[in-house]
Amino acid sequence: MQAKHSISRRHFLRGQLRGHIKETRPPWALPENDFINTCTGCNECIDKCPERIIVKGEGGFPTVNFDFGACTFCQDCVAACDEAALSITDAGQAPWNLTANITPDCISLHGVACSSCADSCEEEAISFRHQIGGISQPEIKTGLCTGCGACTATCPVDAIKISEKTVCEEYAYDHN
Ligand code: SF4
Ligand code: SF4
Ligand code: SF4
Repeated sequence: MQAKHSISRRHFLRGQLRGHIKETRPPWALPENDFINTCTGCNECIDKCPERIIVKGEGGFPTVNFDFGACTFCQDCVAACDEAALSITDAGQAPWNLTANITPDCISLHGVACSSCADSCEEEAISFRHQIGGISQPEIKTGLCTGCGACTATCPVDAIKISEKTVCEEYAYDHN
């Protein structure tokens, strides 16, 4: 009965994937199709994350919600995953392919001084470009950004989104 349940859930999720609904998996997750086929939805990674940023997503699979905090890359979720749906196969393996992006809602782009995101970024991946008139506008240095999400919670207008790096952004990160 359990297996039947599990299979129908996987079919449902494959349908979701074909519909391009994509969630942010915990760091060091297998590629999405392999992840869906490997993760049992046991909740161990959710329970072991000290930052409490992993929640149950579509189909009961774990997903990261940066509204709750940032990833410290502590690897506790990886250690908790007996199925190896989260796994580190070589020492230099990147945790994921994410970067922060500043959206047009940023109040600095509209003449209001703000530097909350830069102040929260330990990687110093956010710099400010000075504009005529004295207001500065934020820019993400993709080569430094780890996609940790620390900047998102501090933005007063929810103007920072964490998303997959483009090919150019990936190149910048790899050659930093
Ligand atoms: S690496 Fe640590 S902080 Fe990041 S999701 Fe896993 S358990 Fe949570
Ligand atoms: S996601 Fe993390 S590393 Fe990237 S800009 Fe935000 S705080 Fe800095
Ligand atoms: S914290 Fe938000 S509003 Fe402030 S500069 Fe950064 S992106 Fe813009």
